[in-house]
Order: sequence, then structure tokens, then C-alpha cells
Amino acid sequence: MQPRLQHKTALITGAGSGIGSAIAELFARHGADLALLDLEPDAVERLAGRLQASTGQRCLPLQADVTDAAMVNARFARAIDALGRLDILVNCAGINVFRDPLELQAGDWERCLDVNLRGAWHCISAALPSMLAAGYGHVVNIASVHGHKIIPGSFPYPVAKHGLIGLTRSLGIEYAGRGIRVNSISPGLILTPAAERYFDSCADPAAERLRQAELLPCKRIGEPSEVAYAALFLASDEARFINATDLLIDGGRSQLYHA
Ligand code: NAD
Repeated sequence: MQPRLQHKTALITGAGSGIGSAIAELFARHGADLALLDLEPDAVERLAGRLQASTGQRCLPLQADVTDAAMVNARFARAIDALGRLDILVNCAGINVFRDPLELQAGDWERCLDVNLRGAWHCISAALPSMLAAGYGHVVNIASVHGHKIIPGSFPYPVAKHGLIGLTRSLGIEYAGRGIRVNSISPGLILTPAAERYFDSCADPAAERLRQAELLPCKRIGEPSEVAYAALFLASDEARFINATDLLIDGGRSQLYHA
């Protein structure tokens, strides 16, 4: 196998679970040294230890809440110091806040927008100065099909994910002439711990899982590794002419008009 990120460094947020963990694993197997950031310190410590042992790549675990700009800046400074530079940033930390708009509870709006949108901006603004100084950097934001289509009862998550795609396009253009690319990926339903929590919250989890799979043209739910391969491509130099765009990975579901 030809490593596609050899001699590159990457920081991945939300690396402690699901899609973020799958991206970390694939990037390490493809030769990148990593900083793995998550709210949950144990999860990234375990993953960093496992990946460092299995791939020989440097893996630095970092605990931080992406909503806290000062904490994010401190962790990014530590990552850049330890890894020497930062070539790639993947913003994967995210939370589901799915409500009826008129039944929002106190703090729902702020929590959803803070983690899913402002958090990504905190991380990009912490990475940009060193990327601009190097004249090189790739950012991949994990958005969602909710950034393209609306599922009633999912408010205000789609607001944040539409915003994240807007952030991607806006910053991709701002810095395009200075060696920086900013793209996003919009996954459909992917089988992760967050998706499992959603199924478990349903009256009949098995029936809901089946219903969701049946809604997809390919009749199956996506795997975290299938998102990770897209992130690998967008973060690599293979995608050097791709900027300020979004890649939907949903088995074609969002293109379906009528079943
Ligand atoms: P997950 O819950 O399995 O993992 C998310 C990780 O983010 C967790 O480790 C969590 O601790 C971390 N995190 C949450 N809030 C944080 C914060 N404030 N600071 C730092 N870390 C924080 O979720 P997942 O399903 O792997 O989702 C990953 C990303 O993909 C999210 O942005 C989500 O919105 C997006 N997404 C997921 C799906 C899906 O079906 N699973 C679909 C579309 C988009």
C-alpha cells in the first residue's frame, strides 16, 4: 500500500468516537502523525496508544472542549509544538440536537451552534496562522446531509450544518490564493455510537434501524470508514484542485425524489 499522507501532520477533533476515530485510524495507516482532540480524554488516550503501537506514527491525545476558544488555542499550540507543524485539520466534533422548533429547551440553540459551528471556527482560527505561515494547509469539516435537506423535528441541527458548509465555502475562497484548501463532507446516516444512541431513543430501535436502511437507495446504513476514505482523499494532495466545496456521502439518498 502506498501511504497517501506520508510526512504529513493532522489534528482531528471528535477523534474519540465514531467517524473521527475512523478518520484517525485511516490517516495513521497512511503515514500521518496525529493530534487527537476530544472532550473525552480516556477515549483519545486509548486510541492514541493503540494507533501509535499498530502504525508507529506519532499520536498525541488532547482533551479539549471545542466551544472554549482559549482552551482550543492552547491545545493547538501544544500540537504544533509537538508535531512540528500542522498540515491538516479535520473538524469532526459534533452533537445531535434534534427538536421540534417550538419545543427547544433552554440552552439547546446555543449548545448546538456552539459545538457544531462555532467550535469548528475556533479550531480553524487556531490552525490558520501556522498554515498561512507555511503557505500550506488542508481543512476538512464534517457537515451533514442536514446541511442540504431538512428532516422535520431535527431543529436546530440543520441550521448549524448549513452554517458549517457556508463557513467551508467562505474560508475556502478567503485563503485559496495562499495555499489553503477548505472542504466539507456531508455524511448521510452512518453507523456510529451517536447513531446507536438515536436508535436506542426510539420506541422500537430494531424497527427504526430497518426503516432507516430501507429509506436508502442502497438499502444499507453507511460505515464510518466510508466517510474516512473521503476525508483521506480531500486531506491529501490528490485533491489539490478541490476547494470550497462539499462532498455528499449518503448512498444517493438525498437525490431521491420519490421512492
Ligand atoms: P460520535 O458521538 O460517535 O462522536 C463525536 C465525538 O465528538 C465524540 O467523541 C465526542 O466526545 C466529541 N465531542 C462532542 N462535543 C465535543 C466538544 N464540545 N469538544 C470536543 N469534542 C466533542 O458522533 P459521530 O456520529 O461519529 O459524528 C461525528 C461527526 O459527524 C459530527 O460532527 C456529526 O454531526 C457528523 N455526522 C454524523 C452522522 C451520523 O450518521 N453518524 C451523519 C452526518 C454527520
